[in-house]
Amino acid sequence: YSFDDLKLKPEILRGIFAYGYEHPSAIQQRAILPIIEGRDVLAQAQSGTGKTATFTIAALQNIDEKKKETQALIMAPTRELALQIQKVVLAIGLHLNVSVHASIGGKAVSEDIEALKQGAQIVVGTPGRVYDMIERGFFRTEGVKMFIMDEADEMLSSGFKEQIYNVFKFLPKEVQVVLLSATMPQDVLEVTSTFMRNPIRILV
Ligand code: AMP
Repeated sequence: YSFDDLKLKPEILRGIFAYGYEHPSAIQQRAILPIIEGRDVLAQAQSGTGKTATFTIAALQNIDEKKKETQALIMAPTRELALQIQKVVLAIGLHLNVSVHASIGGKAVSEDIEALKQGAQIVVGTPGRVYDMIERGFFRTEGVKMFIMDEADEMLSSGFKEQIYNVFKFLPKEVQVVLLSATMPQDVLEVTSTFMRNPIRILV
């Protein structure tokens, strides 16, 4: 199918086309709709497949622009990847009124706190900083509907396991979980069986 068939908000469709995408990639074809419908999705996908736009489009579609609370949390293993994801969210979400904040190590904590106080409907971050902001009460998680873990294998192998489990404890029980990983080692399988409910599995 084409992007037009996804019944996306028209502003998102404009964002997609303006960004230069014409046709959905394989993972986009298979994963965008189930994510929008609220299913947990476990995708085995490398970078280069269009995975970032997959969860970006679905997250933007499900954000309630009228609510200022954080509704989606996207976690990545590195600052660079988190910033790259933020860029894609801003580009595809250009015509929407959605606030996106990158909560990453290495940036001033005070900046982080200020941005979170202003309100960020989507937070993209690295596990250490995100957990710090949650624990200190600056990042309120009550309204988080969608939790996305990008490059989960990298995240778990770089020693973020404890922070990821800690972050989970603060998320609402019914949170939707979307996990993307190039490989499926034991640590990733453990996360999926602990936190995901009846996930749709997609291999691209
Ligand atoms: P990713 O797998 O998210 O790292 O994306 C790999 C590359 O594919 C990036 O340069 C994206 O901008 C690009 N891309 C993602 N989706 C599409 C699409 N539907 N059409 C064309 N390029 C795309």
